Amino acid sequence: MSAELRALGVAERQIRMRASQLWSWLYVRGATSFAAMTDIAKELRGELAENFVLARPEIVTEQISVDGTRKWLLRLDDGKEVETVYIPEENRGTLCISSQVGCTLTCSFCHTGTQKLVRNLTPGEIVGQIMLARDRIADWPGAEAEDKRGLPGSERKITNVVLMGMGEPLYNFEHVRDACLIAADGEGLAIGKRRITLSTSGVVPEIPRWGEEAGTMLAISLHAVRDELRDQLVPINRKWPIKDLLAACRAYPGLSNAKRITFEYVMLKGVNDSVADAKELVRLLAKIPAKINLIPFNPWPGAPHECSDWEQIEKFAEVVNRAGYASPVRSPRGRDIMAACGQLKSASVKQRASARLTASA
Ligand code: SAH
Ligand code: SF4
Repeated sequence: MSAELRALGVAERQIRMRASQLWSWLYVRGATSFAAMTDIAKELRGELAENFVLARPEIVTEQISVDGTRKWLLRLDDGKEVETVYIPEENRGTLCISSQVGCTLTCSFCHTGTQKLVRNLTPGEIVGQIMLARDRIADWPGAEAEDKRGLPGSERKITNVVLMGMGEPLYNFEHVRDACLIAADGEGLAIGKRRITLSTSGVVPEIPRWGEEAGTMLAISLHAVRDELRDQLVPINRKWPIKDLLAACRAYPGLSNAKRITFEYVMLKGVNDSVADAKELVRLLAKIPAKINLIPFNPWPGAPHECSDWEQIEKFAEVVNRAGYASPVRSPRGRDIMAACGQLKSASVKQRASARLTASA
């Protein structure tokens, strides 16, 4: 920002102050026009407006689930689309953001994985999802939400951000890192690093670098405790097997009982949900400060799996519970609007697919 102000000819002694004013208008107050920035000289506001745009991704659809979960399908400048999901609870709210359009990986249980990667999101498009969500749920000082259904009672409506939407965030490392650093900045959006969680399918070489350069909380999509099975479910395992993945986890900077790694485990009927699997899971994670998150499989049209029976999930959870992991089952949210884990896939691709079907029929 300072460099851009300098290029506009702002005097050197004013640059720091102007940059911090701008930053605060953008990220503390959520200003959507330069005209609103009343403590900045009118002439400079005009120049800013001529040279820069303050835009949000365009909303294609906004859906609100019966449980208050919101899902936005967003259109980017080049027409590509991504999804963002907001999950309110009583006293907190989690925003699930995307890092790529589609995903190059092809995990068997994931809807996003059936969509070809189109491209990486820019830092602006990643932070833009947070800004847009804060607009829609009125999470700016003094703002009033149009639709208050299900919003938390806490002062801040977005207390946590998870990189668990579309894409493999560690395959878009620099952009996701820069976006997280902006989101975590205490003078701006101020979502602390401890409240940002990056989920990875296991891009092992980037894990230590993420710890050093971004230092957010980490979640690992484990989903299987044996390599032969994980090779099938999470194909990146063929490159970096479980042993290497867990070694990278053990070495993650700053791990402690207060800062644990979350291991995600999707419950697939008859595939990875036996009591023996549960015991092996607990054994594998024994020396890592860990949380375990069992995710009931969320179905999507044409998915090759079914969700484990509730009884089986309970048996599995009991083994995990007895090993000292509290409340390990993630309750599915927003299933009625296809907003739950692994259900995201932008509608344009779905439409194109159905248009193709019609065309060839
Ligand atoms: N690409 C990253 C982050 C996005 S996926 C990753 O794979 O970790 C976020 C979580 O949802 C991952 O743990 C993913 O494995 C899980 N998931 C994907 N499809 C799912 C489905 N259909 N049901 C439940 N969880 C799913
Ligand atoms: Fe990509 Fe994650 Fe889906 Fe696997 S689970 S296909 S890594 S988005």
